[in-house]
Amino acid sequence: MQKSIAIISILWLWTSCVMAVEVNNIRMWAAPDNTRLVFDLTAKIHHTVFILENPDRVVVNLENVHFNPILLKHLRYKKTVLKNIRYGKDNQHTRLVLDLNQTVRPKSFLLLPNKSHIYYRLVIDLYKQGGKKVIRKTYTDAKQYRSKDIIVAIDAGHGGEDPGAIGKGKIKEKNVVLKIAKLVAKRINSEKGMQAILIRKGDYYIRLRDRNALARKYNADIFVSIHADAFRDWRARGSSVFILSRKGASSETARWLAQKENNSDMAGGFNLDDKSDFLRETLLDLSMTASIKTSNDVASRVLNGLKKIGKVHKNHVERAGFVVLKSPDIPALLVETGFISNPSEARKLNTSYYQNKLAYAIFKGIKEYFRKYPPLGTYFAQLRHQQHIVVSGDTLLKIARKYQVSLTALRKANNIKGDMLRVGKVLHIPVAR
Ligand SMILES: [Zn+2]
Repeated sequence: MQKSIAIISILWLWTSCVMAVEVNNIRMWAAPDNTRLVFDLTAKIHHTVFILENPDRVVVNLENVHFNPILLKHLRYKKTVLKNIRYGKDNQHTRLVLDLNQTVRPKSFLLLPNKSHIYYRLVIDLYKQGGKKVIRKTYTDAKQYRSKDIIVAIDAGHGGEDPGAIGKGKIKEKNVVLKIAKLVAKRINSEKGMQAILIRKGDYYIRLRDRNALARKYNADIFVSIHADAFRDWRARGSSVFILSRKGASSETARWLAQKENNSDMAGGFNLDDKSDFLRETLLDLSMTASIKTSNDVASRVLNGLKKIGKVHKNHVERAGFVVLKSPDIPALLVETGFISNPSEARKLNTSYYQNKLAYAIFKGIKEYFRKYPPLGTYFAQLRHQQHIVVSGDTLLKIARKYQVSLTALRKANNIKGDMLRVGKVLHIPVAR
């Protein structure tokens, strides 16, 4: 009798040791509207998360894990909703108390191992209360919102826990594309009549649908997602530009028709709430068709720019059903700047020289389109009807530079052969291409 109890308890000890899941690492990501905590685990675990008030704190219970509190030492709380994490242990439970600097809404879920993560991951998202307001404030760039500008939403793919593709020398897609996105934004913001909205500004993840929603919130005229993905064949190289596929477009229209709550916040101002089903479908179809036409035109211009700076993967604009491209009301394109899986391309993508070139090609394609087809009421629309009255000291070259048009176009628009200009002559300024 005595003996069997001993055996049972040894067995129990042994299984509990073997069964204990190891917490290998903890990471923390600060996004404008939430803080994400990620635990790397050697297997699945049971956990509970709940809130306690006065003072505000979140309690995380991890069942049957082996947790080394030293993991908490390297965490930095700056910009997060946390002040501190305390650790405690009883029997099978590891208890972490997250001390907060504001009230949050926690959400937790478990992720399975994948290509870029070998561990199971427990993710705890702590959403700031009234998070939407925070997003708006953070994303407006502290710059005054100018309604006459062309608003370009620039989306650096991946971020935070999602590194995207990883190339030789541990070059991560999420970092490369954020740098390129910032360079595109810089170019756009230094262009009169254009304003950039960076969808992601730092190293944190934003859900795909939320990326579109942010663009919509800022009445973006166009959405550009920037990536640098991997392919199983490391030799694959070159950039590509994608727009939404027909199949993706029709499934998205159906989704919008089914999800009535979306209908009141479409950009472009038309409200679908009070329309009949037939009219809603027609309006959505029209909007989607127009968006795709614009997307295709912008994408072709961007692709032409990319052809000038390096190899392109395909010679034409490609079509795919990527979620970030799915907006019936905002034209959208996705630029694959290159393959990070190709060692020489990864090296190139990691240089600021090449990042600048890519950024310029993207910027130029967008600008060219909107200079040619400016939305009503924008500064670019005003430019279409510009005239210039020649004053003393003017030269054709000076005027061409001022309005950013080519000398040839200026000559042609005004039927001028030589270089002579008469003071007081009214010149027609052509639309820049
Ligand atoms: Zn990507």
